[in-house]
Amino acid sequence: MRLLLYIPAFIDVTAPLLSVPSLVAYLKKNGYDDIVVKDLNVEFMHFLQESDYLETQAKTVIQDFENLNALKELTPEETPEFNRLYNLYIFCKLQIYKKLGEYLDILRDKEQFYDVCRYTVTVHGFFQHCFNLINYKNALGLDYLFVARVMERIPDDDRIFTQFYKERILPQIDQIQPQVIGFSVCYSDQFHSSVYLAEMIKERYPQIHIVMGGTHFNVLKDDFLVCKPEYFRFADSYIVGEGEIPLLALLKELENGKHLEKVPNLIYMQADTIMVNDAFDGLPIQELPSPDFSCVSLDEYLAPHHVLPYRIARGCYWNKCAFCVHFQTKHFSYKDARLVVDDIAALSRQYRTHFFYFVDDSLPKAFLDNFMDIIETEGIEIYWVGNIRCDKFMTPSFIAKLAKSGCRELYLGIESGSQRILDLVKKGIDLNLVEQIIHECHKHSIAIKMNYISGLPHEDQTDIETTVNFIKRTAKNSDIIALTPLGIGKGTDIGENPSHYGVELLEKKDKRRIFLNFKRTRGLLDFDQIERLYKEHSIIFNRFSFFNRVHHFLYTLHLPRKDFEELASRLYMVSDRIHYYFMRDSQDFQLEMNKIPIFCNNHHPEMFNFNLKDIQNPTNGKIPAKQTLYLYSFLNFEILTDISVFTYQLLTLCDGKNNAGKIIDYFKSKFPTIDPKTLENQAAANFNLLYKNKVIDFI
Ligand code: SF4
Repeated sequence: MRLLLYIPAFIDVTAPLLSVPSLVAYLKKNGYDDIVVKDLNVEFMHFLQESDYLETQAKTVIQDFENLNALKELTPEETPEFNRLYNLYIFCKLQIYKKLGEYLDILRDKEQFYDVCRYTVTVHGFFQHCFNLINYKNALGLDYLFVARVMERIPDDDRIFTQFYKERILPQIDQIQPQVIGFSVCYSDQFHSSVYLAEMIKERYPQIHIVMGGTHFNVLKDDFLVCKPEYFRFADSYIVGEGEIPLLALLKELENGKHLEKVPNLIYMQADTIMVNDAFDGLPIQELPSPDFSCVSLDEYLAPHHVLPYRIARGCYWNKCAFCVHFQTKHFSYKDARLVVDDIAALSRQYRTHFFYFVDDSLPKAFLDNFMDIIETEGIEIYWVGNIRCDKFMTPSFIAKLAKSGCRELYLGIESGSQRILDLVKKGIDLNLVEQIIHECHKHSIAIKMNYISGLPHEDQTDIETTVNFIKRTAKNSDIIALTPLGIGKGTDIGENPSHYGVELLEKKDKRRIFLNFKRTRGLLDFDQIERLYKEHSIIFNRFSFFNRVHHFLYTLHLPRKDFEELASRLYMVSDRIHYYFMRDSQDFQLEMNKIPIFCNNHHPEMFNFNLKDIQNPTNGKIPAKQTLYLYSFLNFEILTDISVFTYQLLTLCDGKNNAGKIIDYFKSKFPTIDPKTLENQAAANFNLLYKNKVIDFI
């Protein structure tokens, strides 16, 4: 019985996930090896290179832009569209999208990947444009590096899915001829694309048994799988919880007796009844075989080195945080350090890599003590990143040992900079200790990613200010600072005892959602206000946001910290001007460049009420004075200010006749003593800086 296992689209494609290689290893160990694995994220890259999809999209963009450009005047509704399309139009007109293969290879190439210019142009220029092109007039938004936004539903005519699945994926099924197809859905982002494909498969091959599993379904089990018959229209069964033993049992039953009631953790339909089999806790973690990455094409992922995921523990030894959805794993357990080191050493040899990502919720001290000793004694060369709690065991000497064992990046769940809030949600960490830990990690060149949650129970304005101050204080020693809004998961302490946490649960609107609807009854009541207060400081949350998780880890290993800082500031400058890079080979480059009114690093004029065409093709050389203009920050996605007389003059000079040097000279003569403190003057100073320092030459 042949099994086809899918890693569904669309998720990060820089490294493989752990789930499918783990399943495959277990099935093979138990004598079941008629398995084909397809990572649909990798398949999607092939599809883009081989199909006419990008070409068709490009024709639509060119046509739409040229239609707008032919108009004498743009309405307020058309103006933002015109501006939005402008860069994409250049990308299409110069047929840059045809270089997809070249740019994918840059991210896989050991030299080109670490060339900062190439990296920036590739990720923030090429891929950004490429995904704008893929998404153009498509309902499903994809972010660059293939991260999908979760949609309520996929429209029937979504061309990405229809064409991708029909042209590339369904014909593969004809060749592979599986009897069972499994979808490993680990992220919500993968669910909708899985449903869409499963529906197509069911329609064409009704005899194939489709089973879905993965962490996505664990939380949804009660509200969704057990009471919604329509979810068995496209899948025959679902596995909730640990998948290894149930999947093996399912394959055996389908092959032999079809006694599905014997398969643990399985939910399926029998006649018109939804059957829920007994739950099974899963194999002892020690018995899980080492993941088998030979089932995926490691060389196709978008990174110059294989960064392999590995699980050491199941669950979290703390397991008390009131907001945490990881409560389902009742018994915390972890592998023996000897076994882990042997596994990792073997994986390192087999897949020629030293880089590992430990996917555990929180690495336990007892394990790390032994692990670090073995690594040191045996001189094993690995570099790793993992999640850790800021607990008392994180002493300076322990952190020094972590660094010696190859730890190069740690993810810390800080959640809030207010001790009052941390104590309320039972986080169990002390912020004074957190500061010391961050400082020590920095000393030992361990990069830090700090995770925060906005809108925790009872959080008020003072807590937010305290948190922002804490982040600012520790920012110089940390790398990535991420902020996520609070979601209340079913079964969490907050979800079970909402009144204690100052929230009131509202009736759930959509049972497919993992998080419950709620309103706040303590602290700041308006969640939007909380978001706004944090957003005022969004610049601190954007540090190093240029890198995807795996790329950041690799760059951390490659560059000394001070160069990293330097790099980040340059990336901000360069990424804004990426389209120039694409245009510079074009004969029209000079002309185009002078047309675009970008004054400074990250600050662009956004056309809310005025007409870009007036600037590019001025009829009387002036923008109508009565219109209100704004200076818009790409960095913060905020309106910064009304446009002043100064900026207005700058805009009027961007008329397609003056080059940058002329504009700078004009301002120098007109404002010889520029006060750099005001925003507009700063804009001019930056504008000057960009051109004088030849940032354009840099890219
Ligand atoms: S938030 Fe982290 S530390 Fe807290 S219980 Fe969950 S996994 Fe453990």
